[in-house]
Amino acid sequence: MSHKIGELTTDTPPRPNDKRYEKTGFKTALQAIYGDYQPEKKPTSTDNLKTPLVQGLNQTSTGVIILDKNQKIIFANSAAPISRNSNGEDFLALDFINEPTISDWLHEISNEKIKAERRWRRISTNPDIIQNSRIFDVVASFEKGTVAETVIFLIDKSDNYLPEEEDLNFISFAAHELRGPITVIRGYLDIITEEFAGRLQGDEQQLLERLTVSANRLSSYVDNILNVARFDRHHLKVYLLEDTVSNIYASISDDMQLRASTQHRLLSVNIPEDLPTVAADHGSIGEVIGNLIDNAIKYSFEGGSVTVSAEKKGDFVEISVADNGIGMPANVVNNLFHKFYRSHRSREAVAGTGIGLYICKAFVESHGGSITARSRENEGSVFSFTLPIYATVKDKLLEDGQLNNQLIRKGGGWIKNHAMYKG
Ligand code: ADP
Repeated sequence: MSHKIGELTTDTPPRPNDKRYEKTGFKTALQAIYGDYQPEKKPTSTDNLKTPLVQGLNQTSTGVIILDKNQKIIFANSAAPISRNSNGEDFLALDFINEPTISDWLHEISNEKIKAERRWRRISTNPDIIQNSRIFDVVASFEKGTVAETVIFLIDKSDNYLPEEEDLNFISFAAHELRGPITVIRGYLDIITEEFAGRLQGDEQQLLERLTVSANRLSSYVDNILNVARFDRHHLKVYLLEDTVSNIYASISDDMQLRASTQHRLLSVNIPEDLPTVAADHGSIGEVIGNLIDNAIKYSFEGGSVTVSAEKKGDFVEISVADNGIGMPANVVNNLFHKFYRSHRSREAVAGTGIGLYICKAFVESHGGSITARSRENEGSVFSFTLPIYATVKDKLLEDGQLNNQLIRKGGGWIKNHAMYKG
């Protein structure tokens, strides 16, 4: 179309800053004619508000964040809990405490996977950065090479989780407070037992033993409560080290023998010394075995026997606790590991809280093992759980050990779910 000089035109003027003019050397000339024409502006957050999609996203309480391939935040709607650091970069102000962060996860998968998705439950805003605490369930989707490589949705579950959080805070606080005096009582009982060894008369020895067993049991209950509160808030820690099952058992053996003998059960232990070493958190696995033995005692009869055994099974060592007690019908077995579950019969017969097996499962699964129960009503039960043989997970543990140190240095402490170690 021809155009006369001086007449108005609707043609779009050339853009002096276009790369092609730079190459051809026309840039300066065009700038002289058309002025320093601004290239298309990058959309600002206010411009974004104009698009119906962004306006819609800003209306919802679900946070939406998009990261580019460098994990840089390129979009965040108004519900997204982000903050800006001193370099002017936006970052996600969440406290992943016990789990790999989104960045850890992306680091792990981005070289191996084209597409991946991961979910996190109950992730709080970082209290040091965001004052009004909120708790989200988080879903991150990754697709390699796209402009929006990672999309993160943060579903605000504060209404559900915050009241629960307060309860858990109270429970943890109360359990923690109880722990102090219980430890003192147990300490003095140990001293008395030692001091008076061989000097007690009549029923005195038995009374002292019963007192010790009760104090130890109380201590286990409090530990269970504390651990459930920690687990529910994702604060449960397990540190996996090379250990043997017999070594772990040795640290609870005296307590267990005393518990069994004061309740008139025969406790026999068959843990071969030559089993391969396992990857285990010593204290937690002691608690698991202790809980299973406690149950075997509780749900059996005077004079009954309780047997602890261990054997190698593939890449795992399986530890079993068997009793010839009240047992349970098959339909009950599936529910046993749920929180607060207690079978109808045991509710009538024995006092309990229904959290022992729940925490056992949490501990075992965080080691990458599994826990199962076999039972027959009026015949007895066998509870078995597996722990990974150390050699099978060693490399992964050492690799992650470095990650641990880094995270510890960050000051948040390191807690990790080791279920992902296998396979
Ligand atoms: P609690 O013993 O405090 O009730 P647990 O979580 O340890 O809580 O156990 C849950 C339920 O599983 C018990 O209430 C009982 O019904 C059943 N149970 C656990 N161990 C045994 C066992 N060895 N024999 C029979 N029933 C058992």
